[in-house]
Amino acid sequence: MSAIRFDILTLFPEMVDAILSESIVGRARAAGILDIRCHNIRDYSKDRLRRVDDTPYGGGKGMLMKPDVVVDCFETVTADATEKPHTVYLSPKGKVFDQAKAKELAGLSRIVLLCGHYEGIDQRALDEIVDEEISIGDYVLTGGELPAAVLVDAVSRLVDGVLADPECYEKESHSDLLLEYPQYTRPAVYRGVSVPEVLVSGHHEKIDAWRLEKSLEITKKNRPDLYEAYMALHPPAVKKKKRSKKKNEGET
Ligand code: SAM
Repeated sequence: MSAIRFDILTLFPEMVDAILSESIVGRARAAGILDIRCHNIRDYSKDRLRRVDDTPYGGGKGMLMKPDVVVDCFETVTADATEKPHTVYLSPKGKVFDQAKAKELAGLSRIVLLCGHYEGIDQRALDEIVDEEISIGDYVLTGGELPAAVLVDAVSRLVDGVLADPECYEKESHSDLLLEYPQYTRPAVYRGVSVPEVLVSGHHEKIDAWRLEKSLEITKKNRPDLYEAYMALHPPAVKKKKRSKKKNEGET
């Protein structure tokens, strides 16, 4: 998975840009592996007061983002694209984001992320430009900015060159159905607690077996749904009873 471009359409571009300028993602941006551009939807308001929202038809509390400002922003930002970039609306009504979706999106070269605010966005704008709606969990936030940053972060670390070593994500939680085992670093004894002996044994087979056992334990406890799915794919081997020699001899 190589370089990727994200265009984030938002009323708070500085907020998203700030989050995505730090640490690993910030470094990958500076290195040109990630091209992340934040666009202010408000710049597309034709209103003298730069308003972007209005009251919903049919009544109800709150305000809705108007369709024209959102679509105008989208069309200007994507005017240089040879084909329509995959467009995601961050929404609590969307399918819940997971590692499989992150992997799928990491295979694309360009993604547009649309962040709502207030009570959301006029449905006609969504129908016009959005390919899929993604939620980051079953709760409601004030805006799509944090969800967009979450999605960009999760997708970016799967892009070649963003992490030093792909093994970093190949063996961690959600790379398969099991959650990661506990990890330890120096000092060997901290506040009287030693790291598990097997980890300093240098015996790689034993270390792998211990890690698998711990992964199974933690997955069973915290995510019984994942544990059951894993066990369905990896049923424990049934130990065959040794047939007695006597019985074998009696058989023809
Ligand atoms: N009225 C909407 C509803 O009931 O579905 C909620 C609107 S929410 C207050 C404002 C914006 O925050 C949404 O348009 C969306 O972009 C974003 N948002 C809120 N919660 C989210 C979540 N769990 N996942 C993704 N985006 C979310």
